Amino acid sequence: DITDRKEMEARVTQQAEELQKQNKQITDYFVNISHDFKTPLTIILLSIDLLEQNVCTAKNIAVMKQNCYRLGRLILNLLDIAKIDAGHFEPNWEFVDIIKQIQYLIESVSQYVENKNLKIKSNFSHKEMYICSDSFIIERIILNLLSNAIKYTNSGGQITVTCFISSDKVTLSVKDTGKGIPADKKEMIFNRFAQVNSSSHSFVDCGIGLALTKSLVESLQGKIWFESKEGVGSDFFVELPILNLSQSIKTTDYTAAQYNRRIQIELSDLPN
Ligand code: ADP
Repeated sequence: DITDRKEMEARVTQQAEELQKQNKQITDYFVNISHDFKTPLTIILLSIDLLEQNVCTAKNIAVMKQNCYRLGRLILNLLDIAKIDAGHFEPNWEFVDIIKQIQYLIESVSQYVENKNLKIKSNFSHKEMYICSDSFIIERIILNLLSNAIKYTNSGGQITVTCFISSDKVTLSVKDTGKGIPADKKEMIFNRFAQVNSSSHSFVDCGIGLALTKSLVESLQGKIWFESKEGVGSDFFVELPILNLSQSIKTTDYTAAQYNRRIQIELSDLPN
């Protein structure tokens, strides 16, 4: 009777196939990372050439700066993914007025929205709402959803940001009238380096944005999900707990300059 041997052989073959698949994913991951590093670096080097020839314009310098931010964002995202994987990622719990923060973030993207001839509107159930969370993490979550909405919505489209509060949680959503996500790609959207359409690789598309966003939401004990229809638009939802506001928490004050720089880094993959 060789049943046991046959079963063991089948298990070993299956494990070998899984390892091969993982190996390919790791190779793809590094190819994508290399590409995402190379593109902004090439642009910066070209601008340095212009500087050396004394023909560098203010626009070239702005492009150089934006690409430095892109590199900064990529490094920040990769470091955070590594920290999350290693279990070393801890939010800095503080009081956050979520409504005020969303309003700030909408203002921060207004120039990009106008540049693409889009409209943005907001709808909040309250004027202010303090939750126990981490304003830096919330900022990155919302900016990532807003920048995707801007990136994947054509001229004339509409973005709507809403925030509703129930007894123990807030639910915010970023809705767009953009190209939407095809039904057969919906499952992979939160995977690392998921890019629905490879032609979207025209800017520095790290493709890790939503995977990281999901981990960031989970670090705040929240949930993220979306609804989308190809050709109609997408609606991304984030639910965050209000949590016990009496627990001991720190508050962080950022200067306006620090805030502006962070916004520029987060939005660096949108065209100016
Ligand atoms: P990327 O850096 O490529 O935008 P993300 O992880 O943020 O990476 O998103 C993964 C993919 O999901 C994108 O490449 C895009 O195809 C799709 N996607 C994300 N947000 C939207 C949206 N609002 N509308 C349409 N497609 C989207």
